[in-house]
Amino acid sequence: MKIGFSEQDEHFRQEVAGWLAEHLCGAFEALRFRGGPGDEHMFAPERKAWERKLAEGGWTCVGWAPEHGGRGLSISQQVIFHEEYARAGGPGRMGHIGEGLAGPTIAAFGSEDQKRRFLPGIVAGTTFWCQGYSEPGAGSDLAAVKTRAAQDANGDWLINGQKVWTSLAHESDWCFVLARTEPGSVGHHGLSFLLVPMDQPGISVRPIEQMTGTSEFNEVFFDDARTEAANIVGQPGEGWKIAMALLGFERGVSTLGQQMQFHNELDEIIAIARANGADRDPQLRLRLAEAWCGLRILRYNSLRMLSGPQDGSLRREATIYKLNWSSWHASLGKLAMDVLGPEAELLDAAPYQLSRLQSLYLFSRADTLYGGSNEIQRNIIAERALGMPREPRVRP
Ligand SMILES: Cc1cc2nc3c(=O)[nH]c(=O)nc-3n(C[C@H](O)[C@H](O)[C@H](O)COP(=O)(O)OP(=O)(O)OC[C@H]3O[C@@H](n4cnc5c(N)ncnc54)[C@H](O)[C@@H]3O)c2cc1C
Repeated sequence: MKIGFSEQDEHFRQEVAGWLAEHLCGAFEALRFRGGPGDEHMFAPERKAWERKLAEGGWTCVGWAPEHGGRGLSISQQVIFHEEYARAGGPGRMGHIGEGLAGPTIAAFGSEDQKRRFLPGIVAGTTFWCQGYSEPGAGSDLAAVKTRAAQDANGDWLINGQKVWTSLAHESDWCFVLARTEPGSVGHHGLSFLLVPMDQPGISVRPIEQMTGTSEFNEVFFDDARTEAANIVGQPGEGWKIAMALLGFERGVSTLGQQMQFHNELDEIIAIARANGADRDPQLRLRLAEAWCGLRILRYNSLRMLSGPQDGSLRREATIYKLNWSSWHASLGKLAMDVLGPEAELLDAAPYQLSRLQSLYLFSRADTLYGGSNEIQRNIIAERALGMPREPRVRP
């Protein structure tokens, strides 16, 4: 499939831009360009209100099928939506884990009852989700999860264990939890995918404070946390299959919107280089030009990636994409600091007010880790794209 923008698409672009210009103002004006990486802790209630405003306009879950409450947009129109959203400075989406991960997973693997109970709240921008995968000792090696769940006499699942790095858990209503439901099982066997309400005595959320003084992710402790029998997605023991399919959704169409944000950042760096004379430094000029080319390549690769089936399967282009964008973005952060020069290192005393580019530098360090570190991405490319032997895995 070839992605191009038809006349009809360009009309649609005007519709999106017009709606955003009309609504991303007044009480929401302060949210423009806020709430992105490194800024996710800011304006949480206001950004939740913004989700509801988006929903009123029919601009949540734009790629979901109408039967699930979505707008059923074509790929090219989804791309346009995400591009215009980022161009207008639309705030970081509080609902992105629900819309991008939980919802598509429930739509693909959930029961009819689960679809009826969970999808409307995501579409309406009223229910927020977090991702309970990583644990101390189970990050890259996700199959090492130790959190366990067992059914009581009523069939309810009782969950015990700990998750870590759980983004926005403190703002979430529900968490999807990968837990070991088959006692004594190891690796990817015996895992299940559970939907767990956050507001209950069995769950405690402890924010992880970073050197910037902010904390957008958390440790989450489960002490006899409870979820009803009906809140398992798929069958007991199918958790690994579902967890992996979900990671495929993570590399979906919103990546094009992410690139528009990258564009905004690169534009800002170039404007600063022009203003402070860094554009006359031969090395910095080269790096700016390379960054510009790199962004073009990212765009072409993601268009290629989105041209195939959107069924959650992990495609070869997708395996390249995470490694590419995260490395590109981390080096953009470094470039921003070098263009800023000594100013990059100036901050008032705590609580620190980072500039957007200082924030970019610090938080783009995380890009090469979350969603699968660069080393893990290279492993995936070696094994799945190049067909090399699997690396030796050590299991107790
Ligand atoms: C900003 C941010 C948000 C996150 N949000 C969430 C969230 O909402 N929910 C969630 O569940 N998790 C979340 N995570 C966790 C993220 O998924 C993990 O950090 C990631 O999977 C890496 O796991 P780890 O931190 O345990 O590092 P480890 O797996 O311990 O890795 C440490 C280092 O060893 C390297 N390494 C590990 N194994 C290999 C190998 N086999 N070969 C070569 N090198 C290897 C890694 O590349 C890395 O450099 C988030 C992380 C970040 C940074």
